[in-house]
Parts: sequence; structure tokens; C-alpha cells
Amino acid sequence: MPDCIFCSIVSGDIPANIVLRTPEVVAFTDLNPQAPTHILVIPTEHHENGAELAKDNPVQAAAVLAATHTVAAEAGLTDYRTVFNTGAEAGQSVFHAHAHVLGGRNLGWPPG
Ligand code: AMP
Repeated sequence: MPDCIFCSIVSGDIPANIVLRTPEVVAFTDLNPQAPTHILVIPTEHHENGAELAKDNPVQAAAVLAATHTVAAEAGLTDYRTVFNTGAEAGQSVFHAHAHVLGGRNLGWPPG
């Protein structure tokens, strides 16, 4: 998708600190971390949000979810939070589906 920053990370046109790459997903550290570990897991295909991804490509949606556990374990985390922000009011700022993996500190609930 032209002008999608995460598509540019998938293609390699924009650099990122990539921690996992498979044919289905790319995972990289968040530029503006909200916790000691903050990794984004994205599908290699462009879909606007997690719900669209699940509807259009359930195989990649499952791969994203599985990869959240992989990157958390590789970061040494047993306790972590996986977040999909869906829509601007929920805090979504990049409209390419992505899961946040947050950990390494106590995470309050409910989230802000
Ligand atoms: P969201 O607000 O849920 O859409 O999350 C988008 C996330 O992408 C934010 O946490 C940003 O800090 C992060 N982000 C934006 N651009 C980049 C980038 N080039 N590399 C890594 N993380 C990014």
C-alpha cells in the first residue's frame, strides 16, 4: 500500500529494528516504547486493522498472534500484554494491522 509506513518496513524501504521475520509477519521494536519491552508484530499483507486482517486473512491473523508469544518469549517475558488498537479513538495511529507486545514493568488495568 503506497504511503503506508509499515508496508515500507515490510519491504525494507524504511529501516526498523527487526526481531522476527517470517513469510507471514514482521516484528520490530516500537520507535516510541511505552514499556521496557515494546514490540510491534505486523502481517506482511496490508490490512487496516486486526479485525480486517482476521476477516480477510485468518492465516496471517493467527500467525500474528502466535508471533506475539514468540517475541515475548525471546525477550524473556512470561507476563506481557498484547494490544490491538482499532480506530483513532482507541489510539490507532498507523492503519496497517499491528499487535503491540508490552512487558517488563507492571502494567496497570484498566488502560488509559
Ligand atoms: P498505534 O498507535 O496503535 O497505531 O501504534 C502505532 C505504533 O507505531 C506507535 O506505538 C508508534 O510509536 C509506532 N511507530 C510508528 N512508526 C514507527 C516506525 N517507523 N518504527 C517503529 N515503530 C513505529
